[in-house]
Amino acid sequence: MQLKIYNTLSRQKELFVPLMEDPKYHGPKKTTVGLYSCWPTVYRDPHIGNMRAYLCRDILCNTLEKIMGYPLRNVMNMTDVGHLTSDADEGEDKMEKWAKRDNMTVWELADKYIASFKRYLKLLNIDEYEIICRATEHIQEQITMIQQLEKKWYTYIIPDDGVYMDTSKIKDYGYLAKLDIAGLQQGARIENENKKNKTDFGLRKFSPVNEHRQMEWDSPWGKGFPGRHIECSAMATKYLGEQFDIHTGGVDHISVHHVNEIAQSECALGTHPRVKYWMHNQFLNLWGKKQSKSEGGLVTVDELIKKWFHPLDFRYLCMTAHYRSFLEFNEDLLQTAKNSRNNLIKKMQKLFDQHAKIIIDFDSMPYEQIKETITSKYVGDALEDIMNALMDDLNMPQVLAIINQSLNSLDKVEEVDMNDLFVALHWLEKNLLKIWLFDRIGQEVKEIKIPAKIQKLAEQRLEAKQAKDYARSDELRKEILELWREVKDTKEWYELMKM
Ligand SMILES: [Zn+2]
Repeated sequence: MQLKIYNTLSRQKELFVPLMEDPKYHGPKKTTVGLYSCWPTVYRDPHIGNMRAYLCRDILCNTLEKIMGYPLRNVMNMTDVGHLTSDADEGEDKMEKWAKRDNMTVWELADKYIASFKRYLKLLNIDEYEIICRATEHIQEQITMIQQLEKKWYTYIIPDDGVYMDTSKIKDYGYLAKLDIAGLQQGARIENENKKNKTDFGLRKFSPVNEHRQMEWDSPWGKGFPGRHIECSAMATKYLGEQFDIHTGGVDHISVHHVNEIAQSECALGTHPRVKYWMHNQFLNLWGKKQSKSEGGLVTVDELIKKWFHPLDFRYLCMTAHYRSFLEFNEDLLQTAKNSRNNLIKKMQKLFDQHAKIIIDFDSMPYEQIKETITSKYVGDALEDIMNALMDDLNMPQVLAIINQSLNSLDKVEEVDMNDLFVALHWLEKNLLKIWLFDRIGQEVKEIKIPAKIQKLAEQRLEAKQAKDYARSDELRKEILELWREVKDTKEWYELMKM
């Protein structure tokens, strides 16, 4: 099984070869796939456009970790420090502004909305991240990186303003966004006329002399606070090293934030490329209008619940669009997603009533192992088609289409092993879909854990196969089937066979 993902760097789909398996990578040894994602500033509830980005990321994480079996190091930052309103280092500080409005300290505001973010992740069945790092807890790491840049003469100071990165000193600045630097420099006016180049950006801002900020820290340059981009570079380096596998974010980050993340990291650390694969998700279109994080009055998951939608209806809707396409959103489309999800659940319930009461729990197996346990050709072929769609740049609309088609054509197929069908769907539900497909079957479902012995043999068999030792692999297969007979001799199996 080979995953292809669209890399913003090359603007094409590329075979995913993690650094841990890449012969061209000569840095410190990797034992995990490193993934970093940008999180919005935590000054109010995330809207559904934000949540779409985390859903896309959830599909990616689950594919790598649960379906392909890669050990994943999964990092997400929380911007809990007040930056200025825009990527351009200008405007008001959102954290300080909203804290005043909500009559709380900036620290209380950050805690409140971090808790809110985590609650929303749970509502949408998005897995908890391994590492969630807060910008305010990594101030020293950010200062250290600015000092590295200073030592190499990449920085300059604008008095009463901040420490800036001189982008004219970087040979290939903007390669991710394929920026036309010359055009940009002569183009629109420079919003900060003290900057040497239009594309220069703040690494650290000085606290205004006459104003008391709630969030400010001492540094070699005096009191101040971090610039918009430095936290991601500093924290990704701390948790994932100087180079790592995948960086995700919204398409709005390509031209400024991610370009600057690359520039400051590569210049400070002297490594290239910083990230092997850059993946960007497209926006959600709310009633025909693009949603980005800085707009006001946006729809949240709580508002969907008030209108009697289940949060997982929204999860289903997100899966009907490819992550690189706009996701159209309005109530009619959400209603259609809700109906589709309900139909799927009802279909499962009916099949269960007609056929079986047992699900064998294969859920913790990656695909290469689970496919060995499925003997029904119909189910095996459908699952393979589903995996092919997923491996093609995470084509979830196609995954959903194949699941629906396969269930709709069950009547036309002469013989389908229903147990195989439930095993496959249960595995897909737990590892990828997470839409509570089996929810209404609830208590009737008995789950048999696979005996540890069988699990172990299956793993050995996979190893033998990978080593192309087919004789040994066949032997192990026979052994597994022998043991299956023991399992099949249970009361549950007898009950199943009666149906
Ligand atoms: Zn970032």
